[in-house]
Amino acid sequence: MIISTLSTWLTVSDLPLVISGPCSAESEKQVIDTAVEVAKIKNVAVFRAGLWKPRTKPNSFEGVGTKGLQWLIKVKEVTGLKTTVEVAHPDHIRACLDAGIDMLWVGARTVTNPFSIQDLSNVLKNVDIPVLIKNPVAPDIKTWIGALERINSAGIDKLVAVHRGFYDYQESIYRNSPMWEIPIELKRLFPELPLICDPSHICGNKSLIRGIAQDALDLEMDGLMIETHISPENALTDANQQLNPRELEDLISNLIIKKRDGGRDFENQLEDLRSEIDKIDSDLLKLVSKRMKTVQKIGEYKTEHQITILQLKRWNEVIQNRLEMGEKLGLDKEFLKKLLCLIHEKSIEIQGGG
Ligand code: PEP
Ligand code: MN
Repeated sequence: MIISTLSTWLTVSDLPLVISGPCSAESEKQVIDTAVEVAKIKNVAVFRAGLWKPRTKPNSFEGVGTKGLQWLIKVKEVTGLKTTVEVAHPDHIRACLDAGIDMLWVGARTVTNPFSIQDLSNVLKNVDIPVLIKNPVAPDIKTWIGALERINSAGIDKLVAVHRGFYDYQESIYRNSPMWEIPIELKRLFPELPLICDPSHICGNKSLIRGIAQDALDLEMDGLMIETHISPENALTDANQQLNPRELEDLISNLIIKKRDGGRDFENQLEDLRSEIDKIDSDLLKLVSKRMKTVQKIGEYKTEHQITILQLKRWNEVIQNRLEMGEKLGLDKEFLKKLLCLIHEKSIEIQGGG
């Protein structure tokens, strides 16, 4: 992919870039009142608002549609903020381009469908506009990359990936699980690609947003998209997760922006710790390999003596004993349980039970 870095097309006095605005545009007054307030906040350079809303059930508020475009153009005139709108259909893109919207964003549900992304990509040929691409609903990095590549192949080089969390079948305090390893892997594969976080859709609840926003910056993400509404209690969509402008200002002014480069001493110290980690990982892998080989021997022995592979009593003892050991070593119990189950699953597979 050929990607332009943020600073080549966006003049933000200070990164991180903050994109703020309501989940949905509801009325001209709500849009303008929100925009005027968020425009006063440091780092806020772009105003967001959904005009066509993807809703789980029919007959809910599905957005004000094209009439909201003029409200956003007014936001630009009044505040100088750039504007961005979610597009899910080629007609949405045409309407945004005609109106003069500055950036487009593609939502999590649309990214899930390569046909839709191809349709969007087709109308973006020969168009020069930044496009923000959210991660798909499911924790699948390939679909995310596929969408970025499809839009990029239309000639869009001003791309931004937006991490908004993933569907997780496990119960969680978050509306969408952060699964940080996925955006980290995206950053590893495409270091040039600007990456921002949308803590609002990860959290689903305003009380959690600050923590996720700080985590995102600590992971060197380039910005945040945070839903803000002049009166969140009355919002027609995502009322629980929207901040009011005062809360946004408080959140942003309390974020700790750490240095990405800590100087020579810091680098040396970090280098030492990193070599230590390399050595530990190498030992760890050798031990895992040794364990799997022993597992295989046990498997052969079981087959010779025609004994079943899964020995529940033994497995319960192992789990119990390892969790006690782990606790003494200060390891998190849930994490260790997951790790042991993963090892056990593979062991059963090696012994021919997979
Ligand atoms: C939104 O930003 O309002 C939205 C619908 O987000 P997502 O596509 O991440 O669910
Ligand atoms: Mn929303």
